[in-house]
This record gives sequence, structure tokens and C-alpha cells, in this order.
Amino acid sequence: MTFNDLKLSAPLLKAVSEAGYETPSPIQASAIPPVLEGRDLMGCAQTGTGKTAAFALPMLDRLSAAAPRKKGAVRALILTPTRELALQIGESFDAYGKYLKLRSTVIFGGVGQAPQVEAIRKGVDILIACPGRLNDLIGQGHIDLSDLEVFVLDEADRMLDMGFVHDVKKVIAKLPAKRQNLMFSATMPKEIEQLAAGILHDPAFVKV
Ligand code: AMP
Repeated sequence: MTFNDLKLSAPLLKAVSEAGYETPSPIQASAIPPVLEGRDLMGCAQTGTGKTAAFALPMLDRLSAAAPRKKGAVRALILTPTRELALQIGESFDAYGKYLKLRSTVIFGGVGQAPQVEAIRKGVDILIACPGRLNDLIGQGHIDLSDLEVFVLDEADRMLDMGFVHDVKKVIAKLPAKRQNLMFSATMPKEIEQLAAGILHDPAFVKV
């Protein structure tokens, strides 16, 4: 199996090749095809397995192939529990999307919000966010998620362990009903299964 076999567009294949990736990791091989088809996905995988590219590559492919629902709208949201993860995911989107025209930005607490608000005001397609600061900015009217196309809940089990379940549900309540949903968790306790049942529609399941 090669990245070519996964039918990703040429600008993504070029970026992946420049990142030094030769073959898709198991989660990439299993998750990329259903996500490219527009299906929801439950991925049971830890950090280090290549899960970021497993969702970022097919998301970037679909977003670059279609016009936004509304001009200037935030089209994709990745919710992740920590600032470190948000920054890493942001760097991955920058690297994989280097030959595309999609803009992304990272939102997290513990720093001044002005630069984040300014980036959003200029327009972003892809938002990578921690739930607390995201809800603050939504509450202040800086972010509108009503035309979102893709929602990713990353590290769902850690999100629950860190007490973010209420914040996550608050964000989800702001999303349009029609959207693609991807969820990742290293473990699958009952609480995660229940959360997944409320978010995902007929998902593909991938476990590595
Ligand atoms: P992640 O699990 O997404 O945090 O990725 C773990 C590390 O693996 C990151 O440093 C990626 O750059 C790297 N990586 C992801 N996919 C591949 C691949 N197919 N081949 C080689 N390295 C990869």
C-alpha cells in the first residue's frame, strides 16, 4: 500500500512525500478511505500511530475539492485537550496543506486572546482548538460554527479525564446537524461509547 493507492490529490501526495513519509501507517491505511468518502469515523488509536495524518489528509483533500457552504465560514474544527496537542496538530496541518490554499489557526487558553481573535477575523478554514478558550471566543461572538463541514474530537478519553465533557457538549450544540464527524480515543470505556453514539452517524470503526 502506498499513499498513491489512497487516491489523495497531487498537492497532498507532494507534501506527504516531502514530510518523508513512504508508506501509510496502519491507521492511515484504514481510516483515510472512509473519511475520503465522507463517512463518520471512530478511531481507536494512540498518539504516535500517525493518527493526525489519518484525519488531516482526507479532510484537506475534501475541503480543497469543494467550495465552502458559506464564504468565509469556519469549515472544520478539531477539538483537542491540550495546548501541546493543538500546536502539534496545527503544525501537521501546515505541513500537509502547504500546497493548498486553506488557512488554519490554533486556539488555546493561558495566553492572550487578541492574536487568536485577529487570526479568526482575517478568516480561517480550519480551527484547531482546546474547548475552554473556544467556548470563551464563541461566547464573545468571535467565532461562528454554524456552517461547519467537519468536526474532529481528538483524544476523547483524555478530554473526559480532564473534565472537559461539558465544554465539549457545549461546542457540539453550536454545530450544524449535517456534518462529518471523526472521533479518536486511545481507550474505549463505556462513557466514550456513549459519547460516540451521540456524535457519530453510522461510523466506520478503525482500531490499531
Ligand atoms: P501522530 O500519531 O499523528 O502524532 O504522529 C506521530 C509521528 O509519526 C509524527 O511525527 C508524524 O510526523 C509521523 N508520521 C505520521 N505518519 C507517518 C508515515 N506514514 N510515515 C512516517 N512517519 C509518519
